[in-house]
Amino acid sequence: MIYFDNAATTKPCDEAVKAVSDALKTNWSNPSSLHGLGLKAEQAVNSAREIIAKSLDTDSECIYFTSGATESNNLAIFSTAKTIGRHKKKIVTTAIEHPSVLQPIKYLEENGFEAVYVKPDKSGEINPADIVSAVDDNTCLVTCQLVNNETGYILPISKAYKAIKRLYPKVITHCDCVQGFMKLNVSANSLNSDLISLSGHKIYGPKGVGALYVKKGVRVLPVNFGGGQEKGVRSGTEAVPNIAGFGVAVEAFSKSIDKRYEKMCELSNYLFKQTETVEGVKVNKFSESSPYIASVTVDNIKSETLLHYLEQNGIYVSSGSACSKGKKSGVLKAFGYDDRAIDSTIRLSFSYENKMSEIDEFIKQVKNAQAELVKIGQKRN
Ligand code: PMP
Repeated sequence: MIYFDNAATTKPCDEAVKAVSDALKTNWSNPSSLHGLGLKAEQAVNSAREIIAKSLDTDSECIYFTSGATESNNLAIFSTAKTIGRHKKKIVTTAIEHPSVLQPIKYLEENGFEAVYVKPDKSGEINPADIVSAVDDNTCLVTCQLVNNETGYILPISKAYKAIKRLYPKVITHCDCVQGFMKLNVSANSLNSDLISLSGHKIYGPKGVGALYVKKGVRVLPVNFGGGQEKGVRSGTEAVPNIAGFGVAVEAFSKSIDKRYEKMCELSNYLFKQTETVEGVKVNKFSESSPYIASVTVDNIKSETLLHYLEQNGIYVSSGSACSKGKKSGVLKAFGYDDRAIDSTIRLSFSYENKMSEIDEFIKQVKNAQAELVKIGQKRN
């Protein structure tokens, strides 16, 4: 099996599998219980909190556990709507965000908020000045992702947020950092963000766990109410096994961020070089992009047809975003891809386990698909 779908999810690392299993077997108590078993579970949660805080170069009291980045994004957006958004009704975001950002904003638009969606400009990239100039005195929130999940494009949010904070210090800046966390060298400070969303399963941890970083002094109001866990920000018994698995996955990854980044650069450069001479195949490039994700257009073959062809040959890729299953990607359109390219673009996303020989196999199978799908008449005109 060749797995090139790591932006959809990653295979949990051995450390995470062991931590989840150990917690399920021996640390299954409720962290809120006052007895010793509860304390042990609470310690496991706090130890993961410290590891994640360290990875963002911040304090553990700034980290709140959630069920994943979808919840973190919803919490960041709805909380800000309830605090500063009571008086300021404008939200600035981009047209290339994940649905877990776009959908809450859509809901708020239907309920009295105004949203501005900054688009990539003619160069196909987001101009930081466009984000800054969309903000005004009536803005409560600016929310942008760091790395686009469909193309790997790195947004210039650090620069934009710095300028926004200088001009409008009270505006809340939020970063959906899911595809950048651990993969790029980021810290809470370098992102100039008040709120940062993270997910466990994109960095070799378990699914169903994530976190929201909240800068000291920023008020977060809960979206769900109950037992008051996570300092009242996120009620519900903590998922101790998942949290423990998330913590050790971050710890394991922390040891090799730079080494893995270099390996990813080698892989993505290799893919780029090897496809240069293949007719009808193009790796879509940006001035700044994550080497973990490659957007590849194969002319005249529908992405879903190619995806299934590759799957039959043991290669797993994604057509656009895994979250927009079956739907034409609005994100690729915003990037300026034409309809034919949108229909013919697949996403490859890498892990440290991938090898150059797997890229060779991918290219071989794409060439086979180009030849065979013509033969059986599935090639589009
Ligand atoms: N934001 C981005 C950019 C993502 O890629 C994803 C996962 N597809 C999410 C948010 C949602 O993360 P989770 O699966 O943890 O809810």
